[in-house]
Amino acid sequence: MSEFSLIEKYFTRPASQTDLGVGDDAALVRIAEGMQLAISSDMLVAGTHFLHDCAPYDIGWKALAVNVSDMAAMGAQPKWATLAIALPEINQAWLAEFSRGFFACADAFNIDLIGGDTTSGPLNISVTIMGEVPLGAALQRDGAQIGDDIWVSGNLGSAALGLAHLQEKLSLTNELETCLNALHTPTPRAALGLALRGIATSCIDVSDGLLADLGHILKASNCGATIDLEKIPCIDLLKNDLQNSQFQTFILAGGDDYELCFTASPKQREAINLLSKQIHLPITNIGTTNVDIGLQAYYKNNQLKLLKQGFDHFA
Ligand code: ADP
Ligand code: MG
Repeated sequence: MSEFSLIEKYFTRPASQTDLGVGDDAALVRIAEGMQLAISSDMLVAGTHFLHDCAPYDIGWKALAVNVSDMAAMGAQPKWATLAIALPEINQAWLAEFSRGFFACADAFNIDLIGGDTTSGPLNISVTIMGEVPLGAALQRDGAQIGDDIWVSGNLGSAALGLAHLQEKLSLTNELETCLNALHTPTPRAALGLALRGIATSCIDVSDGLLADLGHILKASNCGATIDLEKIPCIDLLKNDLQNSQFQTFILAGGDDYELCFTASPKQREAINLLSKQIHLPITNIGTTNVDIGLQAYYKNNQLKLLKQGFDHFA
């Protein structure tokens, strides 16, 4: 199979919001008047971002989903994506499943695949996503105000728990499916990101763990924060054993959550709780920003000893 028939067979689909898609030297799209283009790239490398035996459907879904999550964090509507992929071989069964997963995510969030590049090499997948946001309305990391509430969507720690199971660091039973779904086919919070325009003062998606990602907001916004471990939303298995330092690590520094963490004035509490009901997604107030520089986490009134990238355990 040639490179070109591969592209035609697996990566060419009708593009509904695009003037010229796959097949030319460049794609052509139109940006609506008064809109800014939001652009983001994320690369997935075999062995680093997913295990070698990971299902190709899941790799395809996740490659796009993590990019949709970046659009959500910006309050942007995702519209177009490009896919640069290096393949060790032409494995048609693998490609069929990969593209099925990729396009399932594209369909779920109404995104056109408009181009890319295909080469041979160690498996490596790089997606660039483009979306639209009204001029000046994007959610950025630098807008948090002193005294804002800190909110998190969904649950944290499930994906890290799933990964730990696969790495045989622990053994899950009842929670296995939930945690593996969180790890392999995360649901980016696109509707939440759009709805937070005009409500959130800052926003980020939690991809590297809450401590690291909330830390980016605090640094950009030049403020500190306190958060309460007991308030952080997580599945019952984690919630019921919060003194477990491994569980604390999953919740605070696990990564791969793809939930949104954002700040908002306390005046927005009612609006946020209403929004949570409307989009059927829990959104939880976990703390407050303050004038201190740095991030402090508490568990039952004891301050946890946090390290730069992760954390230790009790101080
Ligand atoms: P060129 O050599 O001009 O860069 P290519 O031969 O690399 O073009 O690609 C041919 C067409 O197929 C282009 O429109 C390109 O955007 C598209 N394309 C290549 N690889 C992919 C891919 N993995 N997914 C989607 N489109 C792709
Ligand atoms: Mg060309």
